[in-house]
Amino acid sequence: MRILISLFIIGLVSACQQPETNVTESIAIADNQQQIPEHLPLVEDRDIKNVIFLIGDGTGLAQIASGQLALVGPDGLLHMQTMPVTGFVKTHSSDNLITDSASGATAYSCGLKTYNGAIGVNPEQIPCKTILELAEEQGLSTGLVSTSSITHATPASFATHVEQRSMEDEIAYDFLDSGVEVFLGGGFEYFSEQHRADSLDLIGEFEDAGYQILRTKDDLQNSTSNQLLGLFADDGLERADTEPNSVAMIEKALSILSKNEDGFFLMLEGSQIDWAGHGNQVQYLLNEIKDFDAAVKASLDFAQEDGETLVVLTADHETGGMTLQRQLAEGDSLEIFWTTGYHTGTPVPLMAYGPHATEFMGWRDNTYVGHKIAELLGLNGFPILIQ
Ligand SMILES: [Zn+2]
Repeated sequence: MRILISLFIIGLVSACQQPETNVTESIAIADNQQQIPEHLPLVEDRDIKNVIFLIGDGTGLAQIASGQLALVGPDGLLHMQTMPVTGFVKTHSSDNLITDSASGATAYSCGLKTYNGAIGVNPEQIPCKTILELAEEQGLSTGLVSTSSITHATPASFATHVEQRSMEDEIAYDFLDSGVEVFLGGGFEYFSEQHRADSLDLIGEFEDAGYQILRTKDDLQNSTSNQLLGLFADDGLERADTEPNSVAMIEKALSILSKNEDGFFLMLEGSQIDWAGHGNQVQYLLNEIKDFDAAVKASLDFAQEDGETLVVLTADHETGGMTLQRQLAEGDSLEIFWTTGYHTGTPVPLMAYGPHATEFMGWRDNTYVGHKIAELLGLNGFPILIQ
């Protein structure tokens, strides 16, 4: 009990160090969309070949609800809201009731609780095998897609093992031996000899290893290789016209990974939903939800066509303590209220579509999601420490 209470106090202290931001902002409610997407059905539980794991960083119910109201109206549905199975995820880490994205992602990738900041290592800093690494070992193709730097905490936790999330030069280096076929996101500076502390030309190393390097959306569209390192911004994507959006990235990733007869594991992160929450910026949030939901649609379209693909969508934590309040003007706007500039401990939604989707119903611990995905891909024994 004493441990629990001190964990709680640590959580409170850490949350209180963040700025108090009772910012409110009103958003316009969209007209109801003309064609509401249909709720997807449950499908027969056959063996799963592919998994598409979608993480909306910092995406709680209020983020989804405000996205729905502002983008498709009160009667409309975002594509993520058509997924037939829903549950909830408890997100605490091993040392804090409020997780960060590193321990949050490691709970999914390795199926174990670890400390905030940890990338693919347990609380004793021993590396843990990830779902992605197990998939690679079994001959599946793998991909990581993000709108942050590809070396950021969430994608990093699926393919590397470092003690702290800030070690992005090391993370970029470790990606070289990961076997991951498709990396798409930002983070050029962590691969470039001009910016790396060790002046290593990691871009050249990736080229030597067979990767085609992509810098723009045109590069992505015209790419012909089955091994891609797409670095579309120095750090996080800036939504410049030259950058691809999440749909363009996931469609390219799916076109490559689905060539593998044995299947694939693909993780896509809507990274900047979290950043909008940290900044308490509503319009930024809505743009990011829209971008993420379009990638969700592409995933669901692929899975419906394919029949052997499981799509799981969740968040690592909620960001901003966002709530929807009374309408300021009659009927046409909504007030958004933020309670923090950091993450909260509010459980996050879990959604699934495809064979065995019903395994993701109920109130689950974040580690369960990683275990279950591994099990459904035939990868057993989680968690696995690499001694
Ligand atoms: Zn965050």
